[in-house]
Amino acid sequence: MKTSGTVSASSSEKKPETAGDFLSFLTDEIHTVIAASTDADGLPVTCAIDIMDSDETGLYFLTAKGKGFFHRLEKRKFISITGVKGNDTISSIAVSVRGHVEETDDIVLARLLEKNPYMLEIYPTEESRKALSAFRLYEGSGEFFDLSSKPIVRKNFSFGSTQSVREEFFITDSCTGCGKCLASCPQQCIDSTALPFCIHNENCLMCGMCMKSCPDKAVIRRKMS
Ligand code: SF4
Ligand code: SF4
Repeated sequence: MKTSGTVSASSSEKKPETAGDFLSFLTDEIHTVIAASTDADGLPVTCAIDIMDSDETGLYFLTAKGKGFFHRLEKRKFISITGVKGNDTISSIAVSVRGHVEETDDIVLARLLEKNPYMLEIYPTEESRKALSAFRLYEGSGEFFDLSSKPIVRKNFSFGSTQSVREEFFITDSCTGCGKCLASCPQQCIDSTALPFCIHNENCLMCGMCMKSCPDKAVIRRKMS
């Protein structure tokens, strides 16, 4: 968690578009995230961590070698994180990322400490900082979910060699144009100007009400890469 420094209004207003933008947003605008790893029984364990740096190849964070989190990362080499920026639900932007992690080296650790000097208050001596190890989340996929926009904005992204796979609702040629899905959609993100109707997936909540309300089973759920 940052103990000093603020985010400028101008950087807050810039909407991220690319994978690099989403990773920067997580690092600079959110910073503290909840991380899930799995224990020896395959059960999830969560903790709070800071995302201390990012580049086009991934996200960087550190932890202490005595922590269970360190050993879970060493064993499974996989992590899932979610961070939220906003004062309340309706003003919030959430970014989730899951992917493979690797332990890095002391050069990266020194860079993370230099970029995040508040860590020196927690680990004040050179000796105490020997407990720390830096990790890189180098290959993964994620979702950007902006509830502060009207309609909402949802985007998927990936980095490293991972291909982004997103789930979406899709209206097939069985659509008759009856309009029942329009009435059930909470985001008004179904385009009815042509047949079949078309869902704007960037604005879709994935609530499933269009599929439920369609009398002709024209709405399907599918995975796209
Ligand atoms: S409810 Fe189904 S058939 Fe009717 S307009 Fe929507 S998608 Fe088309
Ligand atoms: S899943 Fe929900 S939000 Fe998305 S198009 Fe269907 S009704 Fe609208």
